[in-house]
Amino acid sequence: MDPLRHIKPAVRSLKAYQLVGQQAKVKINQNENPHDVPAAIKRRVVERAMRRPWSRYPSIAATDLATGLSAHTGWRRDGILAGNGSNELLEALLRVTVGPGTPVVIPEPTFSLYAMLTTILGGEPVRVPLDARLQYDVEALLAARQRVGAPVTIVCSPNNPTGGVLAADDVERLCRQGDGLVVIDEAYHEFAGETVQPLLESFRNLVVVRTFSKARALAGLRIGYLMADPLLVTEVSKARLPYSLNFFSELGAMAALEEARTLEAGVQRLVAERERLIAELGVLPGLRVHPSRANFFLVELRSADPAAVFQALREREILVRDVTGYPRLERCLRISVGTEAENQALVVALREILEAGPRATEGA
Ligand code: PMP
Repeated sequence: MDPLRHIKPAVRSLKAYQLVGQQAKVKINQNENPHDVPAAIKRRVVERAMRRPWSRYPSIAATDLATGLSAHTGWRRDGILAGNGSNELLEALLRVTVGPGTPVVIPEPTFSLYAMLTTILGGEPVRVPLDARLQYDVEALLAARQRVGAPVTIVCSPNNPTGGVLAADDVERLCRQGDGLVVIDEAYHEFAGETVQPLLESFRNLVVVRTFSKARALAGLRIGYLMADPLLVTEVSKARLPYSLNFFSELGAMAALEEARTLEAGVQRLVAERERLIAELGVLPGLRVHPSRANFFLVELRSADPAAVFQALREREILVRDVTGYPRLERCLRISVGTEAENQALVVALREILEAGPRATEGA
């Protein structure tokens, strides 16, 4: 009896994408928004949900939200597809493009889901290393695309977990090089104050993917959307499950669009905190802080053992992300920007741990 022999070998060789469900007083390990949605807005969503029959399906393709997103972004309504988190849309996009042996160009290190989904579908991730400063290397991306004739290239901008962006000029160069799809995952674009959306007018092979999970503080409701040429959107929508966005989430997303200005103020607050944190941590001994355009950043431990520092933080009820398993990040931890108080607790703890040297992390 070995039922597992029926699982595709490529899948068996993968490690499952999962975070141990760890909790901590200061939870800064998932790039979430530390500022919750105000109660008045939650109440408004619940009231709207009460007025709707729960026994009825939601709209098949979240049409109300797509209309709201079109007004919000200025991109055409038929070129927008909303889904159950941006993960679902990335998966749908890959499902309609990737089959056995399909090469997909993916920078490295980046969000692990791209390579994972590609592998599950039988495709081949073609990994392109970031440069020595952990920034995108557009020449290397162009060369890889050329070499394999890539039907799909996925770039996360700002990149998770390194925080760098791919400039619009560089995205344009990728789009001009043949008709291979260029997918830009803008999950964190609000924190960079930058988007490649204007290029959609000129390039039918460009796809922009976004989420409500980060700047819009709705990770718990699972909402994402994709913007592209309408013909491409029609094809991708074939792989998205009907009704995948439930009506409650759709109402939540609509409320977030109504409150866009309030949420923007929250984004600016986090950006200011990011810069303050990077400056404060930058002077600690044995620590290199990498610049970032997102709501998180990498710290590189020059001498202390990253696993021991992770553990020492954990003992102080601070949970960061251990990214030492990513190529090139063997000495790094990823830290999400928290509330002002959380950030202060982190600075105090890290200073204590690093100044105490090996004593603080002994036996951890
Ligand atoms: N893209 C990137 C780069 C991410 O970091 C994440 C979340 N960690 C996602 C997409 C998924 O977001 P969602 O919650 O919309 O599925």
